[in-house]
Amino acid sequence: MIGCPENALYANIIIDISHEKVDRPFQYLVPQELRDKVSVGSCVEVPFGKGNTLRKGFVIELTDKAEYDRDRIKAIAAIALDINPAQEMSIRLAAWIRQHYGSTMIAALKTVLPANKKQKALQYKYISLKMPVREATEYYYECIRKKYYARERLLKELLEDPEERIQYEIVTGKLNVASQTIKAMSDKGIINIETESVYRNPVSIKKDEDSDKKLSIEQQAIVDTVISDYDEGKRDVYLIHGITGSGKTEVYISIIKEIIKKKKQAIVLIPEIALTYQTLKRFYRHFGDRVSVMNSTLSVSEKYDQMQRAKNGEIDVIIGPRSALFTPFPNIGVIIMDEEHETSYKSETMPKYHAREVAIALAKMVPEGASVVLGSATPSLESYYKAQTGEYQLFKLNRRLTGGTLPNVEVVDLRDELKSGNRSIFSRSLQEKIEDRLQKHEQIMLFINRRGLAGFVSCRSCGYVFKCPHCDVPLSEHRGGKLVCHYCGYEQSVTKICPKCGSKYVSAFRAGTEQIENEVYKLFPQAKVLRMDADTTKTKHSYEEILSAFANMQADVLVGTQMIVKGHDFPNVTLVGILAADMSLYASDYRAGERTFQLLTQAAGRAGRGEKEGSVIIQTYQPEHYSIQTAAKQDYIAFYNEEIAYRKLLMYPPMAHMMAIQIWARSEDNGIAFANYLRALIERMKVKDAVVIGPAAAAISRIKDEYRMAIYIKMKDYEGLIGIREKIDLWLEKMTNDGRMTGLTVQFDFDPVNGF
Ligand code: ADP
Ligand code: ZN
Ligand code: ZN
Repeated sequence: MIGCPENALYANIIIDISHEKVDRPFQYLVPQELRDKVSVGSCVEVPFGKGNTLRKGFVIELTDKAEYDRDRIKAIAAIALDINPAQEMSIRLAAWIRQHYGSTMIAALKTVLPANKKQKALQYKYISLKMPVREATEYYYECIRKKYYARERLLKELLEDPEERIQYEIVTGKLNVASQTIKAMSDKGIINIETESVYRNPVSIKKDEDSDKKLSIEQQAIVDTVISDYDEGKRDVYLIHGITGSGKTEVYISIIKEIIKKKKQAIVLIPEIALTYQTLKRFYRHFGDRVSVMNSTLSVSEKYDQMQRAKNGEIDVIIGPRSALFTPFPNIGVIIMDEEHETSYKSETMPKYHAREVAIALAKMVPEGASVVLGSATPSLESYYKAQTGEYQLFKLNRRLTGGTLPNVEVVDLRDELKSGNRSIFSRSLQEKIEDRLQKHEQIMLFINRRGLAGFVSCRSCGYVFKCPHCDVPLSEHRGGKLVCHYCGYEQSVTKICPKCGSKYVSAFRAGTEQIENEVYKLFPQAKVLRMDADTTKTKHSYEEILSAFANMQADVLVGTQMIVKGHDFPNVTLVGILAADMSLYASDYRAGERTFQLLTQAAGRAGRGEKEGSVIIQTYQPEHYSIQTAAKQDYIAFYNEEIAYRKLLMYPPMAHMMAIQIWARSEDNGIAFANYLRALIERMKVKDAVVIGPAAAAISRIKDEYRMAIYIKMKDYEGLIGIREKIDLWLEKMTNDGRMTGLTVQFDFDPVNGF
């Protein structure tokens, strides 16, 4: 053991082990020889545990105070050379995420440090002339005499322009000179072989100076406000509520240009599914190679290189899905979040963070503070509520700048279809319109809403839906003829007769994309149909391929799930049919109404993007439901007012906060016993104003033989929920140490947006 001198330096280190048991910093001595090299954020190797196995860890704090008996403190063994050090800010952000969402510190650190494992740099080799031209020319003639053809070819190229460098691969490829020959010539001092490391650049689109547009008065007002606030030292959150095509992206670009002039950087978050090549191209035209992109198709080395380019100041802008938030820029000026309502901004793995909240937290942590700009055609209830209460600044963009009119929307009542004997999944009106469009060679999109888990039970005659009397969410059908609430566990048996109208057409709602495809072929044998769903988009590029085939008019009809409603422009589409609007309405989830409104509005927005007028048909059993009514009128405010009243009544976010405690159990009995015990424990805490519901089986109650159940706690005060979580964490740690957590896993999800 190394003795500790008086002025010793200690490092508090988070060890890279994903286990609750070691979720705290361990203290190590920084040895004299490493003092200059270790700083907060360093990745180091330390002896850990009884066997003193070397483990990696991150230094989160340096101190001169020993927390343990000095003689028992071990010393850091080395700096981990294969991992890049973290920025101090990343450590603070990880701590915030850990506290806010509940996870281990190492899981939080790994979230904020994506792609930090050092990758081999991409190397380019070049060949150039080393010998003076006169001598080289003499040697060239010698090669001709001696019939050294390969050398002759290479020298001829080099002598044509003695300053030139030729890429190594061109010499071995096009010029067909063997690498042994190149080596021999280099050994003789005739040529140079130079190696240069470059960062991989995933996209190459050239900058184009003519791409600036004169902003409209409304657009300019947004840019002016954001920038003048910034100049006055005010860092705010801005919400742009504007329909697709109203010019939001153009506003983002202008704001970024101003921010770059101030030598700051910009992060642009766009959900991966909405990040089209067209959008990317627009950014590259403006920012050239000062912009880069992050997405899931990049290789590990490509991702690593983008992080390095950002760190070294080689780029000013990064575009990507939620992980782009963790790009290590030196000084972020603005974070932009397009389609801020998208559920993909919420992580589904621990820590279950929401990119919007993390963006706002990060904006406060960066050296000079950053502005945050959110944009959406259908803002999340959270953001619009904050805009209403003055926490965010709200802007509206109401006009579509590219022409094209808003489509005609018709709501078809499926109960009437049944009454008049039509049992097809297509209403009469939809059938007529499909026929008409096929004749005119215009395109059709048929959208089936599969967002909710199918399984709610309704009456096909009157539209009645079986709902939980306590939670006002639809009950789901489970095997054995039971209807179950996924929040509180309420159960009732399935009835064969509708309690409202007495009809016997009571059934679980099921329909799929394949069924629709077949129905189209049956009714319209001449139609060419493309189908897009999880099955047809398994391979990496199939998604783009289907969309471009449709854009190239290789099909009349595109049938698909919510995947087809995002972002893409098809000017020849003049009819959009939404076949089962109810599906998402009755997902057993308090966000069902919001999700339905968003999906219907987006789907409707697909029609009439070109010159020709578009029509939209929404088929539903619940034509009077406010989500459907307001989406048909494209009236966001009316929707918001209804929805916020419902959230308020039942204490759902954003009117309160909700913490889901998700439980996985290998044995069902054990899981139920544990969950009940957990509930009792929470009740014993006697937290004022906390409403505890459950335990109940999850929407998917069993996956891979693990039983899933959840307890929900609703409370106005987020900090209060964190307090409860912290107490549960301590208790879980104790249970883990006692070996009582075998076969049980617990995760937390704050303000969940994805069903469980
Ligand atoms: P959004 O991001 O809201 O969907 P965009 O910024 O993509 O909207 O704008 C929609 C279309 O209008 C684009 O083709 C864009 O080039 C064009 N556009 C945006 N602003 C202007 C403007 N001020 N003048 C002319 N065209 C504009
Ligand atoms: Zn009925
Ligand atoms: Zn319930």
